[in-house]
Amino acid sequence: MEQRRVVIVGAGLAGLSTAVFLGLHGVASTVLERHPGTSVQPKARGQSPVVMEAFATAGMTTSIRKAEPAGQPGLTIKISRSVAGPVLHDFAPEAHGMEAFSPAEGGSASQARAERALAERACELGAVLRFRTRCEELTQDSDGVTLSVRDLESGAVEQIRAAYVVAADGHRGGLREAVGIGSHGRGTFDVSDSVRFAADLSAVARTDAVVLHYVQNPELPGGAGVLVSTDEPDEWVAAMAADPERDDAATEALIRTIVGVPDLPLQILGRDTWESAHRVADRFREGRVLLVGDAAHVCPPTGGQGGNTAMLDGYHLGWRLAAVVREEAGPGLLDSHDAERRPYAEAVCDWQVANLVVRQRPDLADPSIGAPMDGMTLLFGYVCGGAVVAEPGAPDELFEDPRTPSGRPGSRVPHVALRGPDGPVSPRELIGPHWLVLTGSAEGVQAAQVAAGELGVAVRAYRVGEDLHDTDGAWDRVSGTGPQGTVLVRPDGVVAWRGADAAGLTTALRTVLHR
Ligand SMILES: Cc1cc2nc3c(=O)[nH]c(=O)nc-3n(C[C@H](O)[C@H](O)[C@H](O)COP(=O)(O)OP(=O)(O)OC[C@H]3O[C@@H](n4cnc5c(N)ncnc54)[C@H](O)[C@@H]3O)c2cc1C
Repeated sequence: MEQRRVVIVGAGLAGLSTAVFLGLHGVASTVLERHPGTSVQPKARGQSPVVMEAFATAGMTTSIRKAEPAGQPGLTIKISRSVAGPVLHDFAPEAHGMEAFSPAEGGSASQARAERALAERACELGAVLRFRTRCEELTQDSDGVTLSVRDLESGAVEQIRAAYVVAADGHRGGLREAVGIGSHGRGTFDVSDSVRFAADLSAVARTDAVVLHYVQNPELPGGAGVLVSTDEPDEWVAAMAADPERDDAATEALIRTIVGVPDLPLQILGRDTWESAHRVADRFREGRVLLVGDAAHVCPPTGGQGGNTAMLDGYHLGWRLAAVVREEAGPGLLDSHDAERRPYAEAVCDWQVANLVVRQRPDLADPSIGAPMDGMTLLFGYVCGGAVVAEPGAPDELFEDPRTPSGRPGSRVPHVALRGPDGPVSPRELIGPHWLVLTGSAEGVQAAQVAAGELGVAVRAYRVGEDLHDTDGAWDRVSGTGPQGTVLVRPDGVVAWRGADAAGLTTALRTVLHR
């Protein structure tokens, strides 16, 4: 029987991202995917600055920039009666201002191209991708997991033994149910047809932009439709309530209503049916099986964070699963995957449901849904409790306003301008496949070296005031430790611990690593 340390089922955004970040931390995984290649469906578009920060640590900034539409694409996100107008709300102004929270600029690569870039990087980092290969059964015991896997070309079935399995099989994969994890949520809202079509929309839509129109129009089934641009300038996707009986002529008429040009020449190129639903797994881990991406949480696409959250699941899981597999951490560290990622996924899914009501389905308004939370707080203000040393008396709110970061354990190490030998540098540009120590004292740097040696992990230490300069006092304000203080940051950019001096550093690292 083939022996593998980590097998990932599903080569979508979540599975491939997990493979990249495992590889970055020295663990080569095997990825099983039933399809012949990565996705060709025009689904998610865009990478948040948080995802781009993560990708930067994996050396992927250039490949994502190359995958973006040519030129400097603008961004159009509007609610309108039709693409031609009138416009009911323009979201573009709200999408600005993220540079206050991150040194990275968001990406605009399509899901298809982002998946290709991730697949390529995962292979460079040692992953083995097996396409046309379906996981059909999975059983686990105290030592590992046995997967029954079918080669869809030859039909042959083989058994693979893995220490850990990452279920990245999407919302229809079935591994969550197979390991006995239930789910909760509002269920299915609607089933939609996404129709890809060719047309010249230059008279009504920007062709140099990533375009997304939420169309609210009583002439459409359910009163709503969506139009999005694709990687090809004259190809678009229109989404509308699904109807298996609808013929091409009726579909074309609905596309013309969405666009708002009654005699628009167009050609239908393909279609896909998908379900808009809200469903979150009750647990993100069962023994040696860990859930990521849509396998763990599904939400309507309104807000564009489903795929982003899937990629971030892989990012935040990668370092800790690698640490456990490499025996740099105890298996208890894996409990933090559920503790940290599930509350965040709940918040993202609630946000996208609230957005669905605002942008597309006012008829679903319900006091239990409420208004969408502030998008900047959702993206940059999460404070996790899991693999961190919590401070006594710290507030237990899951989110803080990123405009006034506390710098406390569980939050993102804040984006502030420090000055390094090569110019301005943000602490967020110093994160990578190592623990980061920012300290005001020489003892802090020594303590970091001692901790690295004792625990056998990679640590990079910078002395603020010597290696880096806090010229406008921003770090002093947000670190919350005083000028001699020490801050320990995880490889995924989350503050793990901070102290007024460095005395507790090794103990903190030991605690987080379950050693
Ligand atoms: C119309 C639409 C628009 C969207 N727009 C956005 C957006 O703008 N921004 C955004 O962030 N998100 C968006 N999303 C959400 C995003 O597409 C998903 O969240 C994302 O695809 C989830 O990635 P995943 O890897 O978890 O799952 P998937 O992409 O579903 O990948 C799972 C993979 O597992 C494979 N698989 C399943 N079972 C098995 C098995 N037994 N053996 C082997 N392989 C298996 C599947 O073939 C599949 O390739 C959108 C979704 C839709 C439907």
